[in-house]
Amino acid sequence: MMTLLSRKTATSSSRETAMHGPDRREEQERRRKKVARQVPLLAILKMIPQHLALFLLKSGLLHRLSPVFHLAESSHQDVVRGLTSNKELQTVFSYLFYGVPPNDSSFMINALLLHHYKRGAWYPRGGSSEIAFHMIPVIERAGGKVLVKAPVKRILLNNGRVTGVAVQRKDKEICIYAPVVISDAGIFNTYEQLLPFVVKKKPEVESLLSSLQYGMGCFLVFIGIRGTSDELGLKSTNLWIYTESDLNSLMEKFQSLEYEEVCKQLPLMFITFPSAKDPTYSQRHPGHSCMTLLTMAPYDWFHQWSDQKPRNRGEEYHTMKMMLANHMVERAIKEFPQLQGKIEYLEAATPVSNEFYLRAPKGSMYGAEQNCSRYQCDIISRMRSQTAVSGLYLTASLREALGIYGSMDSHWDSDKGPTSAAHFSLILNGCFNKKVSIRPLYIKGRMSSAVGWQVQYTEDCYVPLRCPQ
Ligand SMILES: Cc1cc2nc3c(=O)[nH]c(=O)nc-3n(C[C@H](O)[C@H](O)[C@H](O)COP(=O)(O)OP(=O)(O)OC[C@H]3O[C@@H](n4cnc5c(N)ncnc54)[C@H](O)[C@@H]3O)c2cc1C
Repeated sequence: MMTLLSRKTATSSSRETAMHGPDRREEQERRRKKVARQVPLLAILKMIPQHLALFLLKSGLLHRLSPVFHLAESSHQDVVRGLTSNKELQTVFSYLFYGVPPNDSSFMINALLLHHYKRGAWYPRGGSSEIAFHMIPVIERAGGKVLVKAPVKRILLNNGRVTGVAVQRKDKEICIYAPVVISDAGIFNTYEQLLPFVVKKKPEVESLLSSLQYGMGCFLVFIGIRGTSDELGLKSTNLWIYTESDLNSLMEKFQSLEYEEVCKQLPLMFITFPSAKDPTYSQRHPGHSCMTLLTMAPYDWFHQWSDQKPRNRGEEYHTMKMMLANHMVERAIKEFPQLQGKIEYLEAATPVSNEFYLRAPKGSMYGAEQNCSRYQCDIISRMRSQTAVSGLYLTASLREALGIYGSMDSHWDSDKGPTSAAHFSLILNGCFNKKVSIRPLYIKGRMSSAVGWQVQYTEDCYVPLRCPQ
Protein backbone atom coordinates (compact mmCIF):
# COMPACT_ATOMS: atom_id res chain seq x y z
CA MET A 1 0.00 0.00 0.00
CA MET A 2 1.21 3.52 -0.79
CA THR A 3 -0.01 6.53 1.10
CA LEU A 4 -0.29 9.98 -0.32
CA LEU A 5 -0.40 12.40 2.57
CA SER A 6 -1.82 15.88 2.33
CA ARG A 7 0.40 18.85 3.11
CA LYS A 8 -0.67 19.07 6.73
CA THR A 9 0.11 15.46 7.50
CA ALA A 10 3.05 14.88 5.17
CA THR A 11 6.24 14.30 7.10
CA SER A 12 9.75 13.59 5.99
CA SER A 13 9.46 10.10 7.41
CA SER A 14 6.39 9.16 5.36
CA ARG A 15 6.66 6.20 3.03
CA GLU A 16 5.96 8.49 0.12
CA THR A 17 8.97 10.65 0.87
CA ALA A 18 11.13 7.64 1.53
CA MET A 19 10.39 6.27 -1.93
CA HIS A 20 12.05 9.02 -3.90
CA GLY A 21 15.31 10.81 -3.75
CA PRO A 22 15.13 14.46 -2.72
CA ASP A 23 16.09 15.86 -6.15
CA ARG A 24 13.39 13.92 -8.03
CA ARG A 25 10.80 14.92 -5.48
CA GLU A 26 11.75 18.55 -5.89
CA GLU A 27 11.55 18.37 -9.66
CA GLN A 28 8.14 16.69 -9.56
CA GLU A 29 6.89 19.24 -7.04
CA ARG A 30 8.32 22.10 -9.05
CA ARG A 31 6.43 21.01 -12.16
CA ARG A 32 3.28 20.25 -10.22
CA LYS A 33 3.26 23.70 -8.66
CA LYS A 34 4.10 25.37 -11.96
CA VAL A 35 1.15 23.67 -13.59
CA ALA A 36 -1.16 24.66 -10.72
CA ARG A 37 -0.02 28.28 -10.83
CA GLN A 38 -0.02 28.69 -14.59
CA VAL A 39 -3.09 26.68 -15.60
CA PRO A 40 -5.20 29.86 -15.82
CA LEU A 41 -3.08 30.74 -18.87
CA LEU A 42 -4.98 28.05 -20.74
CA ALA A 43 -8.11 30.08 -20.20
CA ILE A 44 -6.50 32.97 -22.02
CA LEU A 45 -6.36 30.81 -25.12
CA LYS A 46 -10.15 30.74 -25.06
CA MET A 47 -10.59 34.42 -24.30
CA ILE A 48 -8.37 35.98 -26.94
CA PRO A 49 -9.62 36.04 -30.54
CA GLN A 50 -9.23 32.62 -32.07
CA HIS A 51 -7.02 33.83 -34.92
CA LEU A 52 -4.62 35.30 -32.34
CA ALA A 53 -4.59 32.02 -30.43
CA LEU A 54 -3.81 30.20 -33.65
CA PHE A 55 -1.05 32.66 -34.50
CA LEU A 56 0.57 32.20 -31.08
CA LEU A 57 0.33 28.48 -31.48
CA LYS A 58 1.59 28.21 -35.06
CA SER A 59 4.42 30.70 -34.53
CA GLY A 60 5.68 28.76 -31.49
CA LEU A 61 5.30 31.88 -29.30
CA LEU A 62 2.72 30.16 -27.12
CA HIS A 63 5.12 27.54 -25.89
CA ARG A 64 7.68 30.23 -25.09
CA LEU A 65 5.18 32.02 -22.86
CA SER A 66 4.88 29.20 -20.36
CA PRO A 67 5.77 25.50 -20.01
CA VAL A 68 2.16 24.79 -18.99
CA PHE A 69 1.10 24.53 -22.63
CA HIS A 70 3.67 21.84 -23.30
CA LEU A 71 2.82 20.03 -20.05
CA ALA A 72 -0.87 20.07 -21.01
CA GLU A 73 -0.12 18.50 -24.38
CA SER A 74 2.42 15.95 -23.12
CA SER A 75 1.43 12.47 -22.14
CA HIS A 76 1.69 11.87 -18.43
CA GLN A 77 3.85 8.84 -19.02
CA ASP A 78 6.46 10.72 -21.06
CA VAL A 79 6.91 13.43 -18.44
CA VAL A 80 6.87 11.14 -15.42
CA ARG A 81 9.32 8.65 -16.89
CA GLY A 82 11.74 11.55 -17.22
CA LEU A 83 11.30 12.28 -13.52
CA THR A 84 11.63 8.86 -12.00
CA SER A 85 12.21 5.25 -12.95
CA ASN A 86 10.50 4.07 -9.78
CA LYS A 87 7.40 2.25 -11.05
CA GLU A 88 5.47 2.60 -7.82
CA LEU A 89 6.12 6.29 -7.74
CA GLN A 90 4.99 6.61 -11.35
CA THR A 91 1.73 4.98 -10.23
CA VAL A 92 1.29 7.40 -7.34
CA PHE A 93 1.79 10.35 -9.68
CA SER A 94 -0.90 9.04 -12.05
CA TYR A 95 -4.62 9.15 -11.62
CA LEU A 96 -6.58 6.48 -13.43
CA PHE A 97 -10.04 7.11 -12.07
CA TYR A 98 -11.29 8.96 -15.09
CA GLY A 99 -10.60 6.01 -17.34
CA VAL A 100 -7.50 7.20 -19.20
CA PRO A 101 -4.15 5.44 -18.63
CA PRO A 102 -0.90 7.41 -18.20
CA ASN A 103 0.22 6.84 -21.81
CA ASP A 104 -2.81 8.75 -23.08
CA SER A 105 -3.53 11.22 -20.29
CA SER A 106 -2.27 14.77 -19.99
CA PHE A 107 0.51 15.39 -17.48
CA MET A 108 -1.18 18.66 -16.59
CA ILE A 109 -4.42 17.01 -15.50
CA ASN A 110 -2.73 14.41 -13.34
CA ALA A 111 -0.44 17.04 -11.83
CA LEU A 112 -3.47 19.16 -10.97
CA LEU A 113 -5.24 16.22 -9.36
CA LEU A 114 -2.18 15.33 -7.33
CA HIS A 115 -1.72 18.96 -6.35
CA HIS A 116 -5.34 19.07 -5.26
CA TYR A 117 -4.96 16.01 -3.06
CA LYS A 118 -1.60 17.10 -1.68
CA ARG A 119 -3.22 20.27 -0.46
CA GLY A 120 -6.01 18.27 1.13
CA ALA A 121 -9.22 17.69 -0.80
CA TRP A 122 -12.43 19.57 -0.04
CA TYR A 123 -15.74 18.14 1.01
CA PRO A 124 -18.82 20.32 1.35
CA ARG A 125 -20.00 20.54 4.93
CA GLY A 126 -23.51 19.05 4.91
CA GLY A 127 -22.95 17.01 1.72
CA SER A 128 -22.76 17.86 -1.96
CA SER A 129 -26.41 19.00 -2.15
CA GLU A 130 -25.26 22.08 -0.21
CA ILE A 131 -23.65 23.38 -3.39
CA ALA A 132 -26.96 23.62 -5.25
CA PHE A 133 -28.74 24.71 -2.07
CA HIS A 134 -26.55 27.78 -1.74
CA MET A 135 -26.52 28.59 -5.42
CA ILE A 136 -30.28 28.80 -5.77
CA PRO A 137 -30.87 31.92 -3.62
CA VAL A 138 -28.12 33.72 -5.50
CA ILE A 139 -29.76 32.97 -8.83
CA GLU A 140 -33.17 33.99 -7.45
CA ARG A 141 -31.85 37.23 -6.00
CA ALA A 142 -30.58 38.06 -9.46
CA GLY A 143 -34.12 37.68 -10.79
CA GLY A 144 -33.58 34.16 -12.05
CA LYS A 145 -35.74 31.09 -11.51
CA VAL A 146 -34.59 27.57 -10.88
CA LEU A 147 -36.89 24.93 -12.36
CA VAL A 148 -36.75 21.24 -11.62
CA LYS A 149 -38.37 18.43 -13.59
CA ALA A 150 -38.16 20.76 -16.58
CA PRO A 151 -35.94 19.10 -19.17
CA VAL A 152 -35.00 21.28 -22.12
CA LYS A 153 -36.13 19.48 -25.26
CA ARG A 154 -34.80 21.94 -27.83
CA ILE A 155 -32.91 25.17 -28.11
CA LEU A 156 -35.08 27.52 -30.16
CA LEU A 157 -33.52 29.25 -33.15
CA ASN A 158 -34.65 31.88 -35.58
CA ASN A 159 -32.51 32.72 -38.61
CA GLY A 160 -29.54 31.04 -36.98
CA ARG A 161 -29.90 33.02 -33.75
CA VAL A 162 -31.00 31.71 -30.40
CA THR A 163 -34.45 32.77 -29.23
CA GLY A 164 -34.94 30.58 -26.17
CA VAL A 165 -35.58 27.01 -25.10
CA ALA A 166 -38.50 24.61 -25.26
CA VAL A 167 -39.04 22.83 -21.95
CA GLN A 168 -41.00 19.62 -21.46
CA ARG A 169 -43.79 20.02 -18.93
CA LYS A 170 -45.76 16.81 -18.52
CA ASP A 171 -47.02 16.06 -22.04
CA LYS A 172 -46.56 19.51 -23.54
CA GLU A 173 -43.72 21.81 -24.44
CA ILE A 174 -43.41 25.27 -22.93
CA CYS A 175 -41.28 27.83 -24.76
CA ILE A 176 -39.18 30.18 -22.68
CA TYR A 177 -37.84 33.05 -24.75
CA ALA A 178 -34.50 34.70 -24.08
CA PRO A 179 -31.94 36.69 -26.09
CA VAL A 180 -29.13 34.53 -24.74
CA VAL A 181 -29.00 30.87 -23.76
CA ILE A 182 -26.13 29.46 -21.73
CA SER A 183 -26.04 25.71 -21.79
CA ASP A 184 -24.25 23.83 -19.02
CA ALA A 185 -25.58 20.52 -20.33
CA GLY A 186 -22.23 19.65 -21.88
CA ILE A 187 -20.93 19.85 -25.41
CA PHE A 188 -22.38 16.48 -26.52
CA ASN A 189 -25.85 17.01 -25.04
CA THR A 190 -26.03 20.52 -26.44
CA TYR A 191 -24.95 19.78 -30.00
CA GLU A 192 -26.35 16.28 -30.33
CA GLN A 193 -29.63 16.49 -28.42
CA LEU A 194 -30.74 20.10 -28.23
CA LEU A 195 -29.80 21.69 -31.54
CA PRO A 196 -31.00 20.89 -35.06
CA PHE A 197 -28.88 18.46 -37.05
CA VAL A 198 -27.75 21.20 -39.47
CA VAL A 199 -25.88 22.96 -36.66
CA LYS A 200 -24.00 19.80 -35.78
CA LYS A 201 -23.06 19.46 -39.42
CA LYS A 202 -21.41 22.88 -39.59
CA PRO A 203 -17.72 22.27 -40.43
CA GLU A 204 -16.36 23.95 -37.28
CA VAL A 205 -18.76 21.99 -35.05
CA GLU A 206 -18.18 18.72 -36.85
CA SER A 207 -14.43 19.15 -36.66
CA LEU A 208 -14.52 19.97 -32.93
CA LEU A 209 -16.88 17.12 -32.06
CA SER A 210 -14.81 14.66 -34.08
CA SER A 211 -11.76 15.52 -32.00
CA LEU A 212 -13.54 14.65 -28.75
CA GLN A 213 -14.67 11.30 -27.41
CA TYR A 214 -17.19 10.31 -24.80
CA GLY A 215 -15.56 9.75 -21.43
CA MET A 216 -15.77 6.35 -19.76
CA GLY A 217 -18.68 5.58 -17.46
CA CYS A 218 -18.47 4.50 -13.87
CA PHE A 219 -20.17 1.95 -11.65
CA LEU A 220 -21.05 3.01 -8.11
CA VAL A 221 -22.17 1.24 -4.98
CA PHE A 222 -23.75 3.38 -2.26
CA ILE A 223 -23.75 1.71 1.13
CA GLY A 224 -25.46 2.62 4.40
CA ILE A 225 -23.70 1.29 7.51
CA ARG A 226 -24.81 0.76 11.11
CA GLY A 227 -22.40 2.55 13.45
CA THR A 228 -20.78 5.97 13.27
CA SER A 229 -17.51 6.66 11.50
CA ASP A 230 -15.83 7.16 14.87
CA GLU A 231 -17.15 3.89 16.27
CA LEU A 232 -16.01 2.02 13.17
CA GLY A 233 -12.69 3.83 12.86
CA LEU A 234 -13.52 5.12 9.36
CA LYS A 235 -11.21 7.92 8.29
CA SER A 236 -11.67 10.95 6.07
CA THR A 237 -9.55 9.51 3.30
CA ASN A 238 -9.78 7.81 -0.08
CA LEU A 239 -8.48 4.43 -1.09
CA TRP A 240 -7.54 3.66 -4.68
CA ILE A 241 -6.96 -0.05 -5.22
CA TYR A 242 -5.15 -1.38 -8.31
CA THR A 243 -4.26 -5.02 -8.90
CA GLU A 244 -0.95 -3.98 -10.47
CA SER A 245 1.14 -0.86 -10.54
CA ASP A 246 1.59 -0.61 -14.33
CA LEU A 247 -1.57 1.38 -15.03
CA ASN A 248 -1.25 1.17 -18.82
CA SER A 249 -1.25 -2.61 -18.78
CA LEU A 250 -3.93 -2.61 -16.08
CA MET A 251 -6.26 -0.53 -18.24
CA GLU A 252 -5.55 -2.67 -21.29
CA LYS A 253 -6.46 -5.80 -19.34
CA PHE A 254 -9.52 -4.16 -17.84
CA GLN A 255 -10.81 -3.31 -21.29
CA SER A 256 -10.16 -6.77 -22.66
CA LEU A 257 -11.80 -8.68 -19.80
CA GLU A 258 -15.30 -10.11 -19.99
CA TYR A 259 -17.77 -8.61 -17.51
CA GLU A 260 -17.68 -11.68 -15.24
CA GLU A 261 -13.89 -11.54 -15.13
CA VAL A 262 -13.94 -7.85 -14.17
CA CYS A 263 -16.33 -8.73 -11.33
CA LYS A 264 -13.98 -11.41 -10.04
CA GLN A 265 -10.69 -9.57 -10.54
CA LEU A 266 -11.75 -5.96 -9.86
CA PRO A 267 -8.65 -4.46 -11.50
CA LEU A 268 -9.37 -1.01 -10.09
CA MET A 269 -11.60 0.17 -7.32
CA PHE A 270 -12.06 3.28 -5.23
CA ILE A 271 -13.36 3.37 -1.64
CA THR A 272 -14.44 6.45 0.25
CA PHE A 273 -16.47 7.29 3.35
CA PRO A 274 -18.41 10.54 2.81
CA SER A 275 -19.74 10.32 6.38
CA ALA A 276 -16.20 10.56 7.75
CA LYS A 277 -15.56 13.70 5.70
CA ASP A 278 -18.63 15.61 6.77
CA PRO A 279 -18.60 16.92 10.34
CA THR A 280 -22.40 17.35 10.24
CA TYR A 281 -23.09 13.74 9.24
CA SER A 282 -23.36 12.31 12.74
CA GLN A 283 -25.89 15.02 13.71
CA ARG A 284 -27.95 14.41 10.59
CA HIS A 285 -27.77 10.62 10.75
CA PRO A 286 -26.98 9.62 14.31
CA GLY A 287 -25.62 6.11 14.70
CA HIS A 288 -24.93 5.65 10.99
CA SER A 289 -22.21 6.12 8.42
CA CYS A 290 -21.86 5.56 4.69
CA MET A 291 -19.40 4.29 2.13
CA THR A 292 -19.18 4.74 -1.63
CA LEU A 293 -17.40 2.28 -3.92
CA LEU A 294 -16.53 3.06 -7.50
CA THR A 295 -14.99 1.35 -10.49
CA MET A 296 -14.81 2.40 -14.12
CA ALA A 297 -17.41 0.81 -16.39
CA PRO A 298 -17.74 0.93 -20.17
CA TYR A 299 -21.19 2.07 -21.27
CA ASP A 300 -21.52 -0.98 -23.55
CA TRP A 301 -21.86 -3.30 -20.59
CA PHE A 302 -25.33 -1.92 -19.83
CA HIS A 303 -26.18 -0.23 -23.11
CA GLN A 304 -29.09 -2.57 -23.91
CA TRP A 305 -31.06 -1.14 -20.95
CA SER A 306 -30.51 2.52 -21.80
CA ASP A 307 -34.05 3.02 -23.13
CA GLN A 308 -35.71 1.67 -20.02
CA LYS A 309 -36.44 3.59 -16.86
CA PRO A 310 -34.85 2.74 -13.51
CA ARG A 311 -36.67 -0.01 -11.60
CA ASN A 312 -38.12 -1.27 -14.90
CA ARG A 313 -34.97 -2.74 -16.36
CA GLY A 314 -35.81 -6.30 -15.40
CA GLU A 315 -34.21 -9.20 -13.60
CA GLU A 316 -31.26 -9.71 -15.94
CA TYR A 317 -30.09 -6.12 -15.44
CA HIS A 318 -30.53 -6.36 -11.69
CA THR A 319 -28.63 -9.66 -11.46
CA MET A 320 -25.83 -8.34 -13.61
CA LYS A 321 -25.34 -5.14 -11.67
CA MET A 322 -25.58 -6.89 -8.29
CA MET A 323 -22.91 -9.36 -9.34
CA LEU A 324 -20.39 -6.52 -9.66
CA ALA A 325 -21.77 -4.68 -6.62
CA ASN A 326 -21.41 -7.75 -4.38
CA HIS A 327 -17.85 -8.41 -5.49
CA MET A 328 -16.99 -4.77 -4.77
CA VAL A 329 -18.52 -4.99 -1.30
CA GLU A 330 -16.58 -8.19 -0.58
CA ARG A 331 -13.37 -6.46 -1.64
CA ALA A 332 -14.16 -3.43 0.54
CA ILE A 333 -14.81 -5.66 3.54
CA LYS A 334 -11.41 -7.29 3.05
CA GLU A 335 -9.97 -3.82 3.48
CA PHE A 336 -12.33 -2.85 6.33
CA PRO A 337 -13.31 -6.09 8.13
CA GLN A 338 -15.04 -4.11 10.88
CA LEU A 339 -17.89 -3.49 8.37
CA GLN A 340 -18.81 -7.18 8.23
CA GLY A 341 -22.49 -7.56 9.20
CA LYS A 342 -22.96 -3.79 9.52
CA ILE A 343 -24.37 -3.07 6.06
CA GLU A 344 -27.98 -1.88 6.26
CA TYR A 345 -28.53 -0.44 2.82
CA LEU A 346 -27.02 -0.98 -0.61
CA GLU A 347 -27.80 0.55 -4.00
CA ALA A 348 -25.78 0.20 -7.19
CA ALA A 349 -25.65 2.60 -10.14
CA THR A 350 -24.44 1.72 -13.64
CA PRO A 351 -23.51 4.01 -16.54
CA VAL A 352 -27.16 3.92 -17.67
CA SER A 353 -28.22 5.11 -14.19
CA ASN A 354 -25.80 8.03 -14.61
CA GLU A 355 -27.22 8.71 -18.02
CA PHE A 356 -30.75 8.82 -16.60
CA TYR A 357 -30.18 10.70 -13.35
CA LEU A 358 -27.27 12.94 -14.30
CA ARG A 359 -27.98 13.19 -18.03
CA ALA A 360 -24.38 12.25 -18.50
CA PRO A 361 -23.95 11.17 -22.13
CA LYS A 362 -23.07 7.46 -22.20
CA GLY A 363 -22.87 7.58 -18.43
CA SER A 364 -19.54 9.36 -18.54
CA MET A 365 -18.21 10.66 -15.28
CA TYR A 366 -16.33 13.72 -16.44
CA GLY A 367 -17.89 14.68 -19.77
CA ALA A 368 -15.64 14.44 -22.82
CA GLU A 369 -12.76 11.99 -22.51
CA GLN A 370 -9.87 13.56 -20.63
CA ASN A 371 -7.24 12.16 -22.98
CA CYS A 372 -4.14 13.82 -24.33
CA SER A 373 -5.65 14.88 -27.64
CA ARG A 374 -8.35 16.87 -25.77
CA TYR A 375 -5.59 18.95 -24.17
CA GLN A 376 -3.78 19.88 -27.38
CA CYS A 377 -3.59 23.66 -27.42
CA ASP A 378 -5.43 23.82 -30.71
CA ILE A 379 -8.41 21.95 -29.22
CA ILE A 380 -8.27 23.94 -25.98
CA SER A 381 -8.44 27.18 -27.92
CA ARG A 382 -11.38 25.93 -30.00
CA MET A 383 -13.40 24.77 -26.97
CA ARG A 384 -14.84 28.18 -26.29
CA SER A 385 -17.95 29.45 -24.65
CA GLN A 386 -19.03 30.96 -27.96
CA THR A 387 -20.74 28.46 -30.24
CA ALA A 388 -21.60 28.23 -33.89
CA VAL A 389 -25.02 29.68 -32.97
CA SER A 390 -25.30 33.36 -32.22
CA GLY A 391 -26.56 33.97 -28.67
CA LEU A 392 -25.79 30.44 -27.49
CA TYR A 393 -22.94 29.85 -25.08
CA LEU A 394 -21.54 26.78 -23.36
CA THR A 395 -20.13 26.61 -19.89
CA ALA A 396 -19.11 23.06 -19.11
CA SER A 397 -16.97 22.69 -22.21
CA LEU A 398 -14.75 25.48 -20.93
CA ARG A 399 -13.29 23.31 -18.28
CA GLU A 400 -9.53 23.38 -17.94
CA ALA A 401 -9.74 20.49 -15.54
CA LEU A 402 -12.20 17.77 -14.80
CA GLY A 403 -14.44 17.82 -11.76
CA ILE A 404 -16.52 20.29 -9.85
CA TYR A 405 -13.93 23.01 -9.57
CA GLY A 406 -13.16 22.66 -13.25
CA SER A 407 -16.78 23.26 -14.19
CA MET A 408 -17.14 26.23 -11.85
CA ASP A 409 -14.18 27.73 -13.60
CA SER A 410 -16.48 29.17 -16.25
CA HIS A 411 -18.48 32.31 -15.93
CA TRP A 412 -20.37 34.92 -17.70
CA ASP A 413 -20.21 38.50 -18.79
CA SER A 414 -23.27 39.66 -20.65
CA ASP A 415 -21.39 41.67 -23.23
CA LYS A 416 -18.47 39.40 -23.92
CA GLY A 417 -20.09 36.07 -23.19
CA PRO A 418 -18.89 33.59 -20.63
CA THR A 419 -15.22 33.72 -19.90
CA SER A 420 -13.12 31.15 -18.16
CA ALA A 421 -11.01 30.64 -15.03
CA ALA A 422 -12.34 32.00 -11.81
CA HIS A 423 -9.02 33.60 -11.06
CA PHE A 424 -9.55 36.01 -13.89
CA SER A 425 -13.03 37.05 -12.93
CA LEU A 426 -12.09 40.16 -11.04
CA ILE A 427 -9.57 41.29 -13.62
CA LEU A 428 -12.14 40.83 -16.35
CA ASN A 429 -14.72 42.74 -14.39
CA GLY A 430 -12.38 45.67 -14.48
CA CYS A 431 -11.79 45.37 -18.21
CA PHE A 432 -15.18 44.64 -19.63
CA ASN A 433 -18.43 46.51 -19.58
CA LYS A 434 -20.32 45.07 -16.65
CA LYS A 435 -24.01 44.73 -17.35
CA VAL A 436 -23.97 41.36 -15.75
CA SER A 437 -27.19 39.55 -15.19
CA ILE A 438 -26.02 36.37 -13.56
CA ARG A 439 -22.53 35.60 -12.60
CA PRO A 440 -21.82 32.13 -11.36
CA LEU A 441 -19.58 31.41 -8.50
CA TYR A 442 -16.16 32.49 -7.53
CA ILE A 443 -15.03 30.21 -4.77
CA LYS A 444 -12.55 31.48 -2.27
CA GLY A 445 -10.95 29.15 0.21
CA ARG A 446 -12.17 25.76 1.15
CA MET A 447 -15.70 24.55 0.91
CA SER A 448 -15.38 22.75 4.21
CA SER A 449 -14.44 25.84 6.18
CA ALA A 450 -16.84 28.78 6.15
CA VAL A 451 -16.75 29.14 2.41
CA GLY A 452 -16.78 32.44 0.63
CA TRP A 453 -18.84 32.48 -2.51
CA GLN A 454 -18.28 35.73 -4.25
CA VAL A 455 -20.91 36.50 -6.76
CA GLN A 456 -21.57 39.46 -8.90
CA TYR A 457 -25.16 39.72 -9.95
CA THR A 458 -25.81 43.32 -10.69
CA GLU A 459 -23.76 45.96 -12.38
CA ASP A 460 -21.17 46.59 -9.72
CA CYS A 461 -22.26 44.81 -6.62
CA TYR A 462 -20.33 41.89 -5.20
CA VAL A 463 -22.24 39.77 -2.78
CA PRO A 464 -20.21 37.59 -0.50
CA LEU A 465 -22.43 34.73 0.54
CA ARG A 466 -21.30 32.89 3.60
CA CYS A 467 -22.38 29.30 4.05
CA PRO A 468 -23.48 28.41 7.57
CA GLN A 469 -20.78 26.89 9.75
C1 LIG B 1 -20.09 9.49 -9.21
C2 LIG B 1 -19.34 10.74 -9.49
C3 LIG B 1 -18.44 11.20 -8.54
C4 LIG B 1 -17.76 12.38 -8.76
N1 LIG B 1 -16.92 12.84 -7.79
C5 LIG B 1 -16.31 14.02 -7.95
C6 LIG B 1 -15.49 14.57 -6.91
O1 LIG B 1 -15.31 13.99 -5.86
N2 LIG B 1 -14.90 15.77 -7.14
C7 LIG B 1 -15.07 16.45 -8.30
O2 LIG B 1 -14.54 17.54 -8.44
N3 LIG B 1 -15.84 15.94 -9.31
C8 LIG B 1 -16.46 14.77 -9.16
N4 LIG B 1 -17.24 14.26 -10.16
C9 LIG B 1 -17.33 14.99 -11.43
C10 LIG B 1 -18.22 16.20 -11.32
O3 LIG B 1 -19.46 15.83 -10.77
C11 LIG B 1 -18.42 16.77 -12.72
O4 LIG B 1 -17.17 16.98 -13.33
C12 LIG B 1 -19.16 18.09 -12.65
O5 LIG B 1 -20.40 17.93 -12.00
C13 LIG B 1 -19.40 18.59 -14.05
O6 LIG B 1 -20.15 19.77 -13.96
P1 LIG B 1 -20.95 20.32 -15.22
O7 LIG B 1 -21.66 21.54 -14.78
O8 LIG B 1 -20.04 20.41 -16.37
O9 LIG B 1 -21.97 19.17 -15.58
P2 LIG B 1 -23.10 18.52 -14.69
O10 LIG B 1 -22.82 18.64 -13.23
O11 LIG B 1 -23.30 17.16 -15.27
O12 LIG B 1 -24.33 19.46 -14.98
C14 LIG B 1 -25.03 19.40 -16.19
C15 LIG B 1 -26.48 19.56 -15.84
O13 LIG B 1 -27.22 19.73 -17.03
C16 LIG B 1 -28.43 19.02 -16.88
N5 LIG B 1 -28.99 18.75 -18.19
C17 LIG B 1 -28.45 18.05 -19.20
N6 LIG B 1 -29.29 18.02 -20.26
C18 LIG B 1 -30.37 18.74 -19.88
C19 LIG B 1 -31.59 19.08 -20.52
N7 LIG B 1 -31.87 18.68 -21.76
N8 LIG B 1 -32.50 19.82 -19.83
C20 LIG B 1 -32.24 20.24 -18.57
N9 LIG B 1 -31.09 19.96 -17.92
C21 LIG B 1 -30.19 19.22 -18.56
C22 LIG B 1 -28.05 17.76 -16.14
O14 LIG B 1 -29.18 17.20 -15.50
C23 LIG B 1 -27.04 18.31 -15.14
O15 LIG B 1 -27.66 18.69 -13.94
C24 LIG B 1 -17.95 13.09 -9.97
C25 LIG B 1 -18.84 12.61 -10.94
C26 LIG B 1 -19.53 11.45 -10.70
C27 LIG B 1 -20.50 10.95 -11.74
